[in-house]
Amino acid sequence: MDYAREILKLKKEKDALILVHNYQSEEIQLIGDILGDSLDLSRKAKDSDKELIVFCGVSFMAESAKILSPEKTILHPVREARCPMADMISAEKVKILREEFPDAAFVAYINTNAETKTEVDVICTSANAVNIVRNLPQKQIVFLPDKNLGRFVAKQVPEKEIILFDGFCSVHEFLYVKELNETKEHHPNAIVLTHPEANENISNLSDHLFGTGGMINFVKNSDHKEFIIGTEEGLTDRLRREFPEKKFFALQPRIICENMKKIKLEDVYLSLLNLQYKVELSTEILEKAKAPLDRMLELSK
Ligand code: SF4
Repeated sequence: MDYAREILKLKKEKDALILVHNYQSEEIQLIGDILGDSLDLSRKAKDSDKELIVFCGVSFMAESAKILSPEKTILHPVREARCPMADMISAEKVKILREEFPDAAFVAYINTNAETKTEVDVICTSANAVNIVRNLPQKQIVFLPDKNLGRFVAKQVPEKEIILFDGFCSVHEFLYVKELNETKEHHPNAIVLTHPEANENISNLSDHLFGTGGMINFVKNSDHKEFIIGTEEGLTDRLRREFPEKKFFALQPRIICENMKKIKLEDVYLSLLNLQYKVELSTEILEKAKAPLDRMLELSK
């Protein structure tokens, strides 16, 4: 079956919108209406007049879209497409940490499950984490779950005491200095752009640290012609497609988030055909998880 064609037909029939994260495989990127990072896509879901949204990304992203648009039907084509880093922390663990650090503000990266979000004070993205932490009145901050993003924030906001949770991204934690140095040797004029989820050694050797949206903007506005990309290869594919006049090299071969790649064209087709799998969250979770997202919007102004 020509799934891409069938998806476009079904999408029209059902008046749906297909949102695709930058780390999805190229075949999924090509059938998407909007490509972007997790927060950006959730906002687009909210702003769209479509009532039916297919979210191609990992589960916390589809949940975030549901939290921002509880009245819409949000479909997540493969339930098992989950973020291992988001699964490293839970609402229960946050409650325990709260007892240990009663005066701290709890800041959670958007890469957390909806239930975890219900227990924190504010959400952040890699793009606004520094501003959020800086603008909080508390001096002590518990930052979770990503220790690498937390360390990046701590360096920029030395006036705060940042307590790091020991979580990490199973893709960006395993980037290697040897591989980066070899890639740099082959492409000495390339600028190194790395995600702040990368481990400390890689971050220290990078020219700039950006989330996926930041990388795209940087490339767009830069006069440089060559870039070494230290993030999931879905983004590198997108950059090659959108900026054919520039050259992009992966920091190391096969930087792949297996969870992101669980969604195939057939899954998107079945998702639209059978309206599966609907993101369902209780009213209590929807309300409690929205509060720290709203706080993020307030504090990142
Ligand atoms: S790339 Fe890392 S943070 Fe993103 S979904 Fe995969 S495991 Fe989670």
